[in-house]
Amino acid sequence: MKRFLIQLIFAVAVALFLSFQTSTSTAGIFDELNNNDAHTEAPAEGEQTADNADAHDAVDDHAAAEAETPADDHAATEQPAAEEPAANEETQPTENGENPETPAADSENPGENAENAEPNPDNPDSEEASDAPAPEPVDPGAPSPVKLKNGGYFSIAKILALLFIYLLWVKSTDWLSADAVHFKKDWKKWNAIAVGAFVASFAIALLLPWFWAGITLVILAYLVPFILYVRYRNEDMNPAEMVFTRDHLRHFFAEKISKIGVKVDPKAKDKFTTGCAANLTSYTKIERQREMRRIQAHAHEGFMDARKMIAELMTNQPEATMLDFAANGVNVRHLLDGVWHPGEPLERETSDPALEALKILCGMNPQDRRSKQSGECEVEYTYQYDFPDERLAIRQMQERYDKLMEEDNDENYVERRKLKEDLRRAKEDLPQPEQRTRKAIITVTSQGTQTGERVMLQYSAPKMNFHVLEDTGMRDKLAEKVQPMFDLPKGIMIFSAPVGNGMKTTLNVALNKTDRFQREYAQLDKESNPHEVVENIPVTTYSDADSIKDVMKRFFLKEPAVSVIQDMDGSILNECFKEMAMDDRLIVTTIRAKDASEALLRMLVMKDAEGNPVSREKVADNVKVVVCQRLVRKLCNHCKQPVKAPPALAQALGFPAGREVILYQPPAKPAEGEEVCSECHGIGYKGRTAITEVLFVGPTVQEVLKKAPKLELLQKAAVKDGNRSLREEGIVLVAKGITSIQELKRILDAQ
Ligand SMILES: [Zn+2]
Repeated sequence: MKRFLIQLIFAVAVALFLSFQTSTSTAGIFDELNNNDAHTEAPAEGEQTADNADAHDAVDDHAAAEAETPADDHAATEQPAAEEPAANEETQPTENGENPETPAADSENPGENAENAEPNPDNPDSEEASDAPAPEPVDPGAPSPVKLKNGGYFSIAKILALLFIYLLWVKSTDWLSADAVHFKKDWKKWNAIAVGAFVASFAIALLLPWFWAGITLVILAYLVPFILYVRYRNEDMNPAEMVFTRDHLRHFFAEKISKIGVKVDPKAKDKFTTGCAANLTSYTKIERQREMRRIQAHAHEGFMDARKMIAELMTNQPEATMLDFAANGVNVRHLLDGVWHPGEPLERETSDPALEALKILCGMNPQDRRSKQSGECEVEYTYQYDFPDERLAIRQMQERYDKLMEEDNDENYVERRKLKEDLRRAKEDLPQPEQRTRKAIITVTSQGTQTGERVMLQYSAPKMNFHVLEDTGMRDKLAEKVQPMFDLPKGIMIFSAPVGNGMKTTLNVALNKTDRFQREYAQLDKESNPHEVVENIPVTTYSDADSIKDVMKRFFLKEPAVSVIQDMDGSILNECFKEMAMDDRLIVTTIRAKDASEALLRMLVMKDAEGNPVSREKVADNVKVVVCQRLVRKLCNHCKQPVKAPPALAQALGFPAGREVILYQPPAKPAEGEEVCSECHGIGYKGRTAITEVLFVGPTVQEVLKKAPKLELLQKAAVKDGNRSLREEGIVLVAKGITSIQELKRILDAQ
């Protein structure tokens, strides 16, 4: 449609040019011959042929450009096409005169527009009329006046001015129609106004004998509809979506110049972007539904509030947000690294419509504020990334440098100089903060409460890039021992953790690292509870209706060397033991438990569907290793505070007496108005890592399992067999300054 319009206008303009050539009228854009005598400086005879050849080449270039253009977008087409008539007329009216303009006029607007059809028949006439005269001398070096056969001159400057306005108009009309379609602003009407006014004024301008009057008319016909449209569309927009406001223009130019390397106060950009830092779209597999929800939500009055609300809620990138709609406002809590923190309360006035729009987007019923319902939508949000690791490195270097300077002795002279140089370079290399975007799926769950409504927003976490067990936080030495266990011919490996402690991630990382080409792997999943699939591990599924005996028979027929069966139960375990009695099978499984000993106990008390307990002996003989982990929050590296550990504590932690022990803790709660760490937003922790306990089943544990299966006895036996407890593993992290004593205590005391 847009392309058509452009070509239409172009055709009209060209037709008018040509018709004017044959008439004797001196239109405003042509200067009279005698006015331009001073400029002509007719070239000497000898130069003419050479110049002509140049001009010829130029025409050929144009023709080549023209041949490529039809498929291109208009920005590319306009330039050569619009210049074409002038160039052609100057030099090669006979050969090229007809080519460029007629296809556009003929093919694109057959009888579409009466006004347009009229000048068309003039075209061939004018061409024929221009057949006779020989090409006029042209001097490409002096471009302003071009002599016409009727005795007038083209004023290139004036034509260029018109062309410039024309291109500007094309660009803005292009934006206008796209914008009108996007915001559903009756684009047909606005397009018709913008095009009609411009075409009419352009035609009149060509007829007018006064150039300046004509061009003023064209400019007005361009600007008036455009300004009217902008005012009309800005009326009911959120500030962030308004155009040509002061903020918008400042943002626009700030972006443009920052691209060419000029540093701009980021605030000039920020003010505009923060208003719409979250783009919300629907998220469902059914394409039609997705579009419908998007349109409905977009039309809702609360949609912009929803975007603003989500942008605000996601500022600290929480895992989830809980909104409590109560009489006096909306109470907000954020889940960060597994801990709930209070957030800024919201006002009902904007939150209610925002929630309605959000529900529509998620395919939920916006009116229902009582029953439990849930849905999903997608968010793409923008955040400021200011290279925290690089900044931290600089800060640490600076601190070290300051310390060396304080000491001020000759021995550290070399180090000081090197540090100074490194520091200078690091500061130079530190990139400017930049806007980054990230996508997430938001799962919205709502339910009525006694005081109002509770809404939970869960944001899908970005995929973690863990490749080896060490990445999960497991100690190198432990990882080196756990990973080879997958090569055991026979036995049971148990991965365990309380819910929400990254157990499945650790198992998947370990499985990913195994060699699935050397050994046959297979996974067994219940249909209703599928697990993440690791590449090259085929999955067998079963339903609740299937008999476990049959399922296991079918599964083991595949002869897997390693069987991955998560969420173990008694029925499956008994079948596994039967199979293991006949064949070498390694079983990898998961059990929810607080520590490794508890995982073993939970396996011991399993019963199958008929109520038969599993054999203690078989558990004791077959289980080779139990991995159990807890996620612990890591101290924020940007604001953690060193503290001297009291000697008693240091000794309790296992440090030799008399040694000075430095531990770290989060900074004290900032006073009202005091600036908080921008990295952790004053929480003191950022990110999590795992404390991993690995229990290799040794003779002591085996004995306890067979004889007196009690938790305390198992824990003691595990230590006796040379294993470290969760607590001991946690202390390693405290001593390294990765986490704090308080956090470790919180994790270990959690039930
Ligand atoms: Zn911090």
